[in-house]
Amino acid sequence: MDLAAAPRTTTTPAAAQRAATLRIDSARLWQRLMALAAIGATPKGGVCRLALSELDGQGRALFVRWAEELGCSVRRDAIGNLFARREGLDPTRPAVATGSHIDTQPTGGKFDGNYGVLAGLEVLATLNDAGLRTHAPLEVCVWTNEEGSRFVPVMMGSGVYAGAFPLAHALAARDAEGISVQQALQALGEAGAAPAAVADGAPRFGAYFEAHIEQGPVLEDAGITIGVVSGALGQRWYDVTVNGMEAHAGPTPMRLRRDALLPAAALVQQVNAIALAEQPNARGTVGMLRVHPNSRNVIPGRVQFSVDFRHADEAGLARMEQGLRSAAAAHSRDGITIDITPVVHFPPQPFDEALRGAVADAARQLGHAQMALASGAGHDAVYVARTAPAAMIFVPCKDGISHNEIEDARPEHLQAGADVLLHAMLARAGVA
Ligand SMILES: [Zn+2]
Repeated sequence: MDLAAAPRTTTTPAAAQRAATLRIDSARLWQRLMALAAIGATPKGGVCRLALSELDGQGRALFVRWAEELGCSVRRDAIGNLFARREGLDPTRPAVATGSHIDTQPTGGKFDGNYGVLAGLEVLATLNDAGLRTHAPLEVCVWTNEEGSRFVPVMMGSGVYAGAFPLAHALAARDAEGISVQQALQALGEAGAAPAAVADGAPRFGAYFEAHIEQGPVLEDAGITIGVVSGALGQRWYDVTVNGMEAHAGPTPMRLRRDALLPAAALVQQVNAIALAEQPNARGTVGMLRVHPNSRNVIPGRVQFSVDFRHADEAGLARMEQGLRSAAAAHSRDGITIDITPVVHFPPQPFDEALRGAVADAARQLGHAQMALASGAGHDAVYVARTAPAAMIFVPCKDGISHNEIEDARPEHLQAGADVLLHAMLARAGVA
């Protein structure tokens, strides 16, 4: 193909027709998923490839090799994010981008993140095979340290990109052994010259799509292949402490006790009830509980527990917090105090309406059953959405399980999601 041909701004009917029939190569996508999963493979069939580890370096090198074989140039920024670029005919247009992450949890799976990155490469490979160009350039991103299990904060690369926290803060983060992100990046040769933050000159995308396994059971339960993600739930986390009085379980009569566990138990029930009253898009979880002194014949004097509230809108989150505070007030009395300390607040992030429309249209044209659903988990797209129109495509995963070595997904679902990604990207980038 003559890459120097004069750019056209319209799509020829022949090219449009050819584009409409394009499908990704499911076998090639699966092969790449398995090849990447072999790096850090665990005996139980999962993957352990922690952010900026030696193995992550090998995974990145494989991505770069594949991208270069597809004719892409690869840009590397100061926090180690990678961007594989396939030029468009119109160099003035911002890129239509996709991607995700390839770092994993210590006992992670083969698909979380990796699928979004490799579906992106598969889109480029499919366009290469068909000899089709786009008007806007296309980019596939690998965001550094999405999982946050070796270095905090999570979603580090996309967070720096979007300005959620400063580059210097991310570079200074240290793992349990005291190794900083900066040292790890340098050791791997993954510290790039390109600016990492949009505020420092990193290019903004024209559109960003991210394909991901759902990591929940909704699609599988409904028997639906494509989730058109409406947005990410906002999150508010709290530490709650109930203070009572420790005393001997034998000599202290029931009416004279100040048992801290009883109000705590009522509040755990209440967290569940508060979320049930805000369906369908609210969650309430107590995942951590510490009873002091945790002895079978001592009345608990202090109980600490976590509360994780999620909701699709800020007003809903505020109602949930109010519900928790009222319940705490109702259970406080002489000798029982309850303290509620907010520890994390992520605002809800709705995705772009036009991009959600492009995903829904692509699913319809391809004949895949679809439904709208909210993401209860954080993803790189949630930060990217602060800088550009963004949307996500969910596909089912087996039993809704992720962050687990048994994480699994069906090839036909992975293909469907990548086909939807292909056509949604083409709709935004324009076929030349
Ligand atoms: Zn992920």
